[in-house]
Amino acid sequence: MFNDFVAERGRLYQAGFHREVSFAETSRRVLIEAKAPGGARPYLAEVSSAMLQQSVRDAEAGYRNFFASLSGTRKGPRIGRPRLKSKHQHTHRMRFARNAGFKVEDQSHQGHGFLTLPKIGRLPLVLSRPLPSAPSSVTVTAHADGTYEVSFVVEVEPRKALEPAHAAAGVDVGITSLAAVAYEDGTSHKIVNPRHLKARERKLARAQRKLSRCQKGSKNRQKTRTQVAKQHRKVRQARLDHHHKQARALVDNTHAIGLEELNVAGMIRNHRLAKALSDTGMSQFLRLIREKAEETGRTVVTVDQWFPSSQLCSECGCSGGKKGLGIRQWSCSCCGAVLDRDINAAVNVMIAAGLAEIENACGGSVRPAPVLAEPMKQEPAEQTPTLLGAV
Ligand SMILES: [Zn+2]
Ligand SMILES: [Zn+2]
Repeated sequence: MFNDFVAERGRLYQAGFHREVSFAETSRRVLIEAKAPGGARPYLAEVSSAMLQQSVRDAEAGYRNFFASLSGTRKGPRIGRPRLKSKHQHTHRMRFARNAGFKVEDQSHQGHGFLTLPKIGRLPLVLSRPLPSAPSSVTVTAHADGTYEVSFVVEVEPRKALEPAHAAAGVDVGITSLAAVAYEDGTSHKIVNPRHLKARERKLARAQRKLSRCQKGSKNRQKTRTQVAKQHRKVRQARLDHHHKQARALVDNTHAIGLEELNVAGMIRNHRLAKALSDTGMSQFLRLIREKAEETGRTVVTVDQWFPSSQLCSECGCSGGKKGLGIRQWSCSCCGAVLDRDINAAVNVMIAAGLAEIENACGGSVRPAPVLAEPMKQEPAEQTPTLLGAV
């Protein structure tokens, strides 16, 4: 149905019609035509109509955004016309709104339950955590490796917050560690990626290399592709779990958090696997911090993405100039402070967010104490980056 809508609007667009024909008109037309007994796909009469309408609405939203982008009412980079979805796309997604009439049964406390979908039936389900309230919509995703994932949209009551230990923090997300965190009292720490996650990433990279050696169109390639998809999903899940826990700990611990805005548009163009993984990781981690901060009633201050957090000395404000990614620590030529690259950047984010001068519990104004670099352990050489396959 998504495709019917996109194709019909495409024909109208080529013929010079933009907004002259309403979306509602197109939606009605494709729904009637597809389901008609002599129509294109009479079997659709068997499919729940709420689901078909959802599909058409998704296509409609794509077109609305496209027109808004054309006329400039939508900010951000230009977006293109919605494209036809391929049958061979590697994941398939179906969304059911509340009025579609789905039902969730959470039967045991081990997370086992059932999901009943209109015209599909009652399906067994494992919940990763208990649902806090009745979901307003459900999305079913079929992965390339043959597994299914179900996600719910749920309203959440604000969490009862503990009294945090810190008034303020600055966060610098990075590549060697997930993030460096500096607090208003001069303490700081780095959030590292756990060993098991690194092991999974190496496994994924191995599977990717194997895939690139497989003959195009061969049976073996198909099998390897499924393996890559499976490893990819495992990495994603392990990473998400780690980020949830770390973001929760940070938010529980801190009143006000300074974050950098990430240049997401620039990242999407990056196709190196190692880089792509760390990029998606960084924006995911920042998103989770924001979400949890909002849930918990904490303050988040965002610093402009062009703020040179890694170039300034957090001690005296001197600019140390641009530094390559290989430089993990440097000393300031103005004041002589020896600075850890990531911790220094985190302190700068906190200062730029206006959080460094916050009154502490004793009533005094605080300046972060000197940030001294810790001796760095030499990391083993990174895997050669491989191209990110179509997973
Ligand atoms: Zn503190
Ligand atoms: Zn300095």
